[in-house]
Amino acid sequence: MSPKKLIYDLTQEQIRDILKAHDVPKFTAKQIFSWLYTKSVFSPMDFSNISKSNRELIANIFDFTLPEIVKKETDPNDKTVKYLLRTSLGRAIETVVMDSLDHKTQCISTQDGCALGCDFCLTGNYGFKGDLSPGEIVSQVLISIKNDNIKPKNLVFMGMGEPLMNVDNVIRSVEILSHEEGLDYGMRRIIISTVGILKPLKKLLNRFPKIGIAISLNGVPGERGKLMPVEKTHPIVAIINFYTAHREYRRPTFEYVLIKGVNSSTEDAEKLLNFVEPVRCKINLIPYNENPNLKYRPPSEVELNAFIRILNKGRNAVTVRRSKGKDISGACGQLSGESLAE
Ligand code: SAH
Ligand code: SF4
Repeated sequence: MSPKKLIYDLTQEQIRDILKAHDVPKFTAKQIFSWLYTKSVFSPMDFSNISKSNRELIANIFDFTLPEIVKKETDPNDKTVKYLLRTSLGRAIETVVMDSLDHKTQCISTQDGCALGCDFCLTGNYGFKGDLSPGEIVSQVLISIKNDNIKPKNLVFMGMGEPLMNVDNVIRSVEILSHEEGLDYGMRRIIISTVGILKPLKKLLNRFPKIGIAISLNGVPGERGKLMPVEKTHPIVAIINFYTAHREYRRPTFEYVLIKGVNSSTEDAEKLLNFVEPVRCKINLIPYNENPNLKYRPPSEVELNAFIRILNKGRNAVTVRRSKGKDISGACGQLSGESLAE
């Protein structure tokens, strides 16, 4: 018999087609989807509205194993929770659930590591181990719902990995996460953070025109290449041109990690302002999260404020992201699957 298919890799339509080949009625796919994604019941023998013989069949065809929680840490200051997971394929995944006053936002990973090697990023320094499957992406959300009994309101694809280097699995995962009879995440609730690679970006926007896009800029073209090797093969100018030509898409957010002595001077702010001014966008500044193993540091508050003052001269909205989960290495760029790497 062929190996069982991981159920979380499949859309409701795919489940229905597989069941059809086994003469199981098509509404059973709907029922399975509902057990998994609205009732958080993950063992098929508990699917009480499905006949016993069909439950046994389903258990034989599909694999319902969720990733194992290797470690769960909670930041005592801001209640951020970080999970280190290991999937049945042996992949290490980190996912972080951030707490706001009235809702949670989950940061999910799309790859085990990252191949793009941005110098300032811990994931980039850890290297690339492999792509996550759609189900490995989806099950990060299932784990947090199962454990905390709360469905995160927003999902940000900002954990380990570059989503557009794994675009087909990312698209499939969004199809599953957004299904109306399942978790039902609308496009206003999902943000994909990327370095901006044009071809897969178009593919993603073609499928989900309203999905949120955040682009990691971190420097104007000449400077960006020093921090982000991907600039040499996929220049950011292509993304700027794309968004100036295609105003029908939601405006993107440009993320800019501020690093002391590297890209945080008032001169850098002027250059950034001129560079993004042609595009309708939002600018999100992220003071660098330090890591003892990396040489970079955040700017002072005075430098940060001077930087913001200059950007505020432009027409685009500027926000600052104060990172959560610093004490448990759960903040942006602090994910590395480290405990599984040894
Ligand atoms: N690969 C994607 C998504 C993961 S990185 C991307 O690069 O967009 C998510 C964000 O974290 C990026 O904006 C990245 O620039 C930022 N980041 C990486 N390391 C960081 C650090 N040490 N401090 C603050 N932000 C960091
Ligand atoms: Fe990869 Fe994003 Fe980190 Fe760059 S910043 S190494 S693209 S995860």
